[in-house]
Amino acid sequence: MTLHHNLIAGEWVGSNGVENINPSNTNEVVGLYATASADDAKTAIAAAKAAFPAWSRSGILERHAILKKTADEILARKEELGKLLAREEGKTLPEAIGETIRSAQIFDFFAGEALRLAGEVLPSVCLNIGVEITREPIGVIGIITPWNFPIAIPAWKIAPALCYGNTVVFKPAELVPGCSWAIVDILHRAGLPKGVLNLVMGKGSVVGQAMLDSPDLAGITFTGSTGTGKRVAAASIEHNRKFQLEMGGKNPMVVLDDADLTVAVEAAANSGFFSTGQRCTASSRLIVTEGIHDKFVAALTEKLKTLVVDDALKAGTHIGPVVDERQLATDTDYIAIGKQEGAKLAFGGETIKRDNPGFYLQPTLFTEATNQMRISREEIFGPVASVIRVKDYEEALAVANDTPFGLSAGIATTSLKHATHFKRNSEAGMVMVNLPTAGVDFHVPFGGRKASSFGSREQGKYAAEFFTVVKTAYTLA
Ligand code: ADP
Repeated sequence: MTLHHNLIAGEWVGSNGVENINPSNTNEVVGLYATASADDAKTAIAAAKAAFPAWSRSGILERHAILKKTADEILARKEELGKLLAREEGKTLPEAIGETIRSAQIFDFFAGEALRLAGEVLPSVCLNIGVEITREPIGVIGIITPWNFPIAIPAWKIAPALCYGNTVVFKPAELVPGCSWAIVDILHRAGLPKGVLNLVMGKGSVVGQAMLDSPDLAGITFTGSTGTGKRVAAASIEHNRKFQLEMGGKNPMVVLDDADLTVAVEAAANSGFFSTGQRCTASSRLIVTEGIHDKFVAALTEKLKTLVVDDALKAGTHIGPVVDERQLATDTDYIAIGKQEGAKLAFGGETIKRDNPGFYLQPTLFTEATNQMRISREEIFGPVASVIRVKDYEEALAVANDTPFGLSAGIATTSLKHATHFKRNSEAGMVMVNLPTAGVDFHVPFGGRKASSFGSREQGKYAAEFFTVVKTAYTLA
C-alpha cells in the first residue's frame, strides 16, 4: 500500500505510516498515512515562517487562482473524495459528497474574497491628515482539526488563512488523514509556493502539542473537544498568540404545541441522528411542551424505526457507523448512564451487527429526561437524544438556555411571536426556526457562545477577523 507523506517545505516526506481503518468495515484499510514527529512539526513551522514574507505580499490574482483551481478540482472529484470521506469517517455517501461539495464552495468563496480585500479611508479629526485602515495577514497559522467533518473543517480554516496571506501548518485528526491529504495535494499542485502550506499528520499529544509549544505560530485555529481547546487557550496566552476555538455543544431543539408535527419530527430526526449524531451542531435535547409531547414522541419513534443503520457506502443507508471503538464505548456508556439516571429508553440503545464488522449503534431516544441529568448536560457526540417535557414556551426557553454550551438552538413553532422571541433570547450563536439545528451555510458566520466557542467567528467574510490584523495609518497631506 502506498504511503501518503506529510508535506513540509514543499516536499513530501516521512516514513512511519499508520493505517486508516474504515468504521463500516474494520477489516478494510483505507490507506497508509505518515505520522510526523515533534521535530517534523518544528521544521514545518520554520518553513511556514520562511515562506510568510513572500506569500503575505503575493498578488491577489495568484491567491485567487490557486483557491479557485482547488475549488474546481474538489468539485470535479466530488464522488471520489466523497467516497474516501465516507470510508474513513463513516457518514453516508450522500452526506459525504455533500460535505465535499461544501468544501469546494468554501474554496470558491475565498477565491472571491481574495479579489475583494479592502480597507477604509477616513478623514482624521485633525485637518489635512488622512487615515487609512487596512487588514494584514497575521503570520504562521496553526490549524488543528477534528475527525467529524474531515474535508469541510480543514477547508473553512485553510481557505481563509491562505486568502488573507498567511502561511499554514495543518494537523488533521488522526482518524481521518485521507481527505486532509487530498486537499493539501490539490492545493500544492494548484501552485502554492514551497512552505506556504505544510501538512503534519500525526498524534495530537505529539504533533499538536509541538504546535501549541511553538513561539513561532501567530495564531491557532482549533476545532475539537473542550479539554483540548483549554490547552490551546492556555498555551496561546503563554505565547501571546491569537487563538480561535470551536468546541462542544449540547444544542436544544424546542417543540411547541403549535408546531407542524411533520416539520418538528423531520428537524429532530435530522438534528439528533443524521451524520450519526457526530456534529457539534447536533441536537441532543428535545424540549417539548405538554400538549404535543406524546404525539411528538410517538411520531419521532415511528420515524426512527424507518432509519437504516448500515455501511456508509450502501445505497439506502440513513445512518452510518460510529467513527471508532472509543467513541462507540462513550456512546454506550452514556446510554447506561441515562438508564441509571432514570430516563426512559423509548427507542434503540443497542449496538448492532451488519454484514461487515463495524461500529454500528441504533439511533437512541430517551424520554422523561430532566435537564439536570448528565445525558442532558454533557456532550455525547453520538446518535443519542433525550426528550425533556416542559409546561410552556417560557419554561422551554429557560431549559434551552440552561446549559454550559451555546452553539446552536432550534425551535419548531408556527407562532411568529414565539419564533421572534426565541431568536432574540436564545443564548446560542446560531438559531434555527423550523429547521434542524445542524446544516449551516458557508458564506455566513459560524460559531457559538459560552463554553462552545472562543474568539471571533469562522466562515464568510467574518473569517477576516481572525485571519487578519487591522492597521491604522495616518498621513499628513
Ligand atoms: P476528539 O476527542 O473529538 O478527538 P480532540 O480535542 O482530542 O477531540 O481532537 C481534536 C484535534 O486536537 C485532533 O486533531 C487532535 O489530534 C488534536 N489534539 C489532541 N490533543 C492535543 C494536544 N495536546 N495538543 C494539540 N492538539 C491536540
